[in-house]
Amino acid sequence: MRDGIGNGRDALPRVRAILSGLADVVWPRTCAVEACGRPVDRPRGHICSACFAALPFHEPGGACRICGMPVPAKTPHVFVCEACAANPPPYERTCSAVDYAAPLDMLVQAFKYNRASWLAEDFAELLDGAVRAHLDRAAVDAVFPVPLHPNRLRKRGYNQAALLARALARRLNRRCDERSLVRIRDTPKQSLLGADERRQNLKGAFAAVRPQFVRGRVVLLVDDVTTTGSTLAAAAEPLRAAGAAHIWCATLARAPHDS
Ligand SMILES: [Zn+2]
Ligand SMILES: [Zn+2]
Repeated sequence: MRDGIGNGRDALPRVRAILSGLADVVWPRTCAVEACGRPVDRPRGHICSACFAALPFHEPGGACRICGMPVPAKTPHVFVCEACAANPPPYERTCSAVDYAAPLDMLVQAFKYNRASWLAEDFAELLDGAVRAHLDRAAVDAVFPVPLHPNRLRKRGYNQAALLARALARRLNRRCDERSLVRIRDTPKQSLLGADERRQNLKGAFAAVRPQFVRGRVVLLVDDVTTTGSTLAAAAEPLRAAGAAHIWCATLARAPHDS
């Protein structure tokens, strides 16, 4: 009986692959980058290989090891920025796959606000590449999306960070934990605030409600875009208090900020 269930599970990805192959024949996918127009030549992806290769990738060695802030000149050594050295954030490492620049910014906007959830696989591939390049991929115990407040979730209908975390967790063959970290305060939008205001705005916004799933674990916190790292820091704080062994962060994109 158990074998039967196991085989059924194994067959599911094959069935999915066959169905998606058939769908490609009936409805060939066009690259999600608007100006491109080429057919998609990557399995399960919606960005063609030429556009995918041309995305503004981050290279290792070009950012602070802790917060991921890019450095003006590439350093061959492990680099820790002044802010992290003076006041270390509650997470140990951050990596981002790409810069928040064209054409990725439009795709992220569509993913976040226009239900373009079909981009999750392309984005998870980018995230997975960043995790491989910057972190110890095999050491990760669980993937945690940065949660939305229930009010925001109701309005938007889905959490874009959770879509990314689920797709990444499948690739890492790890658990995606969407219940242990919650957002308990509905905070005003971050985008109009400076770095200090962002930190204040997010104080006490998150809580670890199932500490038994955090204690002693290597947690990979996932979000779509990071700017100052203040959301990641606020989300990591209760994870650290709950006794996570390591807290690492992976974001799809890093946006520049002025402050
Ligand atoms: Zn393309
Ligand atoms: Zn730093």
